[in-house]
Amino acid sequence: MVVIKPFYLQIWFIILAGLVFLAAGFFILRWRTASLERTQAKLEAEVARQTATIRQQSEELKALDEFKNRFFANVSHELRTPLTLILGPIGTLINSGELSKSSMNMLKLAQTNAQSLLKLVSSILDLSKIEADEMKIHEKPQALFPFMRRLASNFESHAQHLGINYLFEYRADKNLQLNLDAERLETIINNLLSNAMKFTPKGGTVSIQIDDLGHFIRIAVEDTGKGILPDDLPHVFDRFFQSKAHDSSHEGGTGIGLTLCKELAQLMGGNISVTSEWQKGSRFILEIPRKEVLGSMVAVDQEPVDSLSHTVSGPEEKSAQGDQGFYFW
Ligand code: ADP
Repeated sequence: MVVIKPFYLQIWFIILAGLVFLAAGFFILRWRTASLERTQAKLEAEVARQTATIRQQSEELKALDEFKNRFFANVSHELRTPLTLILGPIGTLINSGELSKSSMNMLKLAQTNAQSLLKLVSSILDLSKIEADEMKIHEKPQALFPFMRRLASNFESHAQHLGINYLFEYRADKNLQLNLDAERLETIINNLLSNAMKFTPKGGTVSIQIDDLGHFIRIAVEDTGKGILPDDLPHVFDRFFQSKAHDSSHEGGTGIGLTLCKELAQLMGGNISVTSEWQKGSRFILEIPRKEVLGSMVAVDQEPVDSLSHTVSGPEEKSAQGDQGFYFW
């Protein structure tokens, strides 16, 4: 008979206990790992589900946004055509000289309002096009001085009517000819001038200043109007922004004019910024690339020098002006 000594029994017991302990540890670890893997799989499934939901929601939002843009673009386009057709006969009647004074006044009122509506509708259409990436810049050689004179002159009678001093300061070569999108530039300048007149009281001053900076042409529209509150200043180019300053609501507007200006300026490769002091005035600065066109011949509008106060300075004209209104280089 084999007698196991108590000492060996103890050793066997310790080994057995160790093995049991190891086996238990192993099974517990496997169970824990399996449970962690199950939790991880569940979490991954949840993340995948939520990602799919977010992707679907963002696609729905994008589709909704595109639908909204298309809707705005279509409605604006449909409104623009009849408005243009209304303005045509009104203009013809006004120019006919066959109207009594009261009929003339009524028609001019209709014309002003139809023009405001057309301007608003065009702005909405332009913004929708920019959002849909469909706005294209069409650059053509343009003689800067007569072009800017014409844009500034369009506001002359408005300034007179409001009792505002209006200045045109041109400090660049009078013969400078640039490649630019005249229509878009006109939209920007019209918005800036119309805002400057809107926010400047009787007796105040609005000026448009054109400077040649070398690589850029700077067009500044400055006014001595009510200015912009410091808190509002960073937001004036935001879509639909209108100042909450006390009497702003009386001035009307939609808050899209400056957004459009910024977008168009950037599309043209330029930029627009503003400085302002509350109750003192504002200065909007547009900078567009100076893409000079040299060695070509371009018909230049013959702008009569009218009553608009203006200063012109700059380098001597570098060419002779032809009889037909052409500049030669
Ligand atoms: P709108 O004039 O149609 O409200 P804009 O985008 O042209 O929209 O202008 C946004 C806001 O910026 C205006 O409501 C006004 O508060 C402020 N603003 C713009 N131009 C001037 C200015 N020349 N002087 C003072 N405030 C201005």
